[in-house]
Formats: sequence, structure tokens, C-alpha cells
Amino acid sequence: MTEQFSAAVVEEFGPTLNVRGVDLPEPGPNQALVRNVASGICHTDVHAAEGDWPVKATPPFVPGHEGVGEVVKLGPGEHTVNIGDMVGNVWLWSACGTCEKCRTGWETLCDNAEYGGYTVDGSFGEYMLVDTRYCARIPEGSDPIEVAPILCAGVTVYKGLKVAETRPGQFMVISGIGGLGHIAVQYAVAMGMRVIAVDVADDKLELAKKHGAEFTVNAKEQDPAEAVADYTNGGAHGILVTAVHPQAFGQAIGMARKGGTIVFNGLPPGEFPAPIFDIVFKGLTIRGSLVGTRQDLEEALDFYARGKIKPTVKEVQLNDINDVFDGLLKGGIDGRRVIRY
Ligand code: NAD
Ligand code: ZN
Ligand code: ZN
Repeated sequence: MTEQFSAAVVEEFGPTLNVRGVDLPEPGPNQALVRNVASGICHTDVHAAEGDWPVKATPPFVPGHEGVGEVVKLGPGEHTVNIGDMVGNVWLWSACGTCEKCRTGWETLCDNAEYGGYTVDGSFGEYMLVDTRYCARIPEGSDPIEVAPILCAGVTVYKGLKVAETRPGQFMVISGIGGLGHIAVQYAVAMGMRVIAVDVADDKLELAKKHGAEFTVNAKEQDPAEAVADYTNGGAHGILVTAVHPQAFGQAIGMARKGGTIVFNGLPPGEFPAPIFDIVFKGLTIRGSLVGTRQDLEEALDFYARGKIKPTVKEVQLNDINDVFDGLLKGGIDGRRVIRY
């Protein structure tokens, strides 16, 4: 009989996962079997389980793409990791390595990529497979619970801030202070930007202040465009939207300074109104940004290893997964929840 382990499985689209036994997989070429120690729970996992996006995962599947664990078995062939190494799975589980995107530093946009916890089973289980060419290498001395959120939330906002082309001393709005946003505040501060936080919940804004935001706006109580324009004398140079409501995406245009850059990280299903006049007359750049490359990940992890970033985390158990999903859907989770195995 095949050996089994416990995992949280999406049996059909919907917010409820089923914790049950699944078969222990055998690592193939370029793959390693990892015994998990921790896994962060990202709002993307909720979108995956709900089937929110045009391109869907295929149930049954195991979500989770912030897994941290120990390599216990290597597949056939050569590897650049060893048994006993601490590694992580990420959203960019693997890429082809040969297409135009991969060759030009944009492996995140590879058409033949596999996604952790989406097209390949993820880290909501005691074991997972990683591709040893693409997995995260966890810096020595890392706390597995604390480092887990860097593998998606951290690298995503770090890359988003890089492509926002905003310099030290300039204003950066972080819209949405959840798992991604509370880490984005910290990276932006570490990069020397003046950080403004926008959310619809006061406790999230308090967390942003704790992590170094100098000004906060509750978008439920105040028009964020007006508040940001007043505070910055004309709007923010950069805006990073990590919110899970489409409204925040439209509001970003109002918060931007002339010549500013808006980066979208959040992925709620839906659309937002985009006023053409404002975009043209303000000369705005609006771009989407998807996770980060292996190099972005190394850099994002290095900020953590040097003590510049410290995710706000709370430990949970695998069996708590449905409560955490419920909390994410209600906007009631501060920082990141991380499963300890
Ligand atoms: P989260 O649930 O932890 O945080 C979302 C935050 O948005 C909450 O703090 C909530 O209060 C806030 N919010 C809700 N409505 C708002 C509004 N109208 N204005 C401002 N803030 C609002 O979620 P998360 O794990 O941080 O993920 C956020 C989003 O980013 C998800 O859609 C997720 O799929 C996406 N994501 C994208 C990438 C990428 O590569 N682009 C990577 C990871 C996650
Ligand atoms: Zn994620
Ligand atoms: Zn490719």
C-alpha cells in the first residue's frame, strides 16, 4: 500500500477544504520530496479554492505556495540542493527556462510555468514536491514560521515595489494592508520610501503604522484621493495595490501624482472604472506584477535574513484551514496565518 500523509484538499470549487490522507508522491527528475515544517496561507489560495480566476486549477488539488520544509528525498539525476536542506515551494513552481520570457529575465511570465498549489499540489500538507531548480533556498537561521510569508507575499511586493520605479524619499502608497500589504510597508520603508497606508479597517492601519507607515487613510471614512493629495501636495509617486476589492484599483488612479506609477498585485475577480482623461493628463503608468523571479526571491529573502523585514505571523494547525479562509474572506486576518506541521 502507498504511504499517505495529511493534506487540505480542494475537492470541488468553494471555500471549504477537506483534510484527509493523500498518497506520498515519488520525486521525479529535477524534483525533491520535502517534509513541511510550515506554510503560509495566502489570499490566492482562497481564489484558487473558489475558482475565482479565468484560468482555474483542477480539483482535487492541494493549495499552498508558502511552504517551508526539509528535503528528505531527491529524484533521479543531479541537483543543486541536498538531503537535509531547508527549501520552500513558491507560486512560480517551475518555468521552461528556454522561451523568450525565460531568456529575458521574465520567467514569471513563462507560458509553460507550473504554479505551486495550483497546477502542482502545494504546501497545505505534511509533504510536498518541489522543482530543485526553482524552489526557494531558506537562509540559515531563519524562523520557518516567520520566513514562510516571504515566499509569496514578500517576493511579490518586493518585486512590485521594484517595478514601481519610485525612489528613496518619494511617496509610496500601499493600498490593502493584509498579508501582502503589511510586508510591503516594511520593504518600502527599508528601500527609503515615505509610506502611506490605505485600508478599510483601522486595525490594519495600526499595523501599518507599527511597521513604519507615516500616514494612514481609512478609505471607508475618507476619500483616499483627497487625503493622499493633501498629505503629499499633489499625489503619491508610486502606488502598490494589494487590496482584495476592485474599488481600490480605481482609487489608485486618483491617489497618483502626475507622472506616477501604479502597480497592481491584488487579484480580486472583477473590473474597475479607469478614467481615460486622468490617466492621459497625469501621464500615469499602470502595470500588473506577478510574484517575482528566483533572483527577486533571493533578494527578498536577504532583506529578511538581514533583519529588515519581520512578518507579523500567527501559528495555526492544518485543521484550522477553513477558519483561516473564512477570516480572509471577511477581511479579519492581521498579517499572515502560518500552519505549523
Ligand atoms: P489579505 O486578505 O491578507 O489582505 C487583503 C487586504 O485588502 C485586507 O487588509 C483588506 O482589509 C484590504 N481591503 C479590502 N478591501 C479594500 C479596499 N476597498 N481598499 C483598501 N483595502 C482593502 O490578502 P493577501 O494575502 O494580502 O492577498 C491580497 C491579494 O493579492 C489577493 O487578491 C491575492 O490573490 C493577490 N496576490 C497576488 C500576487 C501576485 O503575484 N500578483 C501574489 C500573492 C497574492
Ligand atoms: Zn500567494
Ligand atoms: Zn519559459
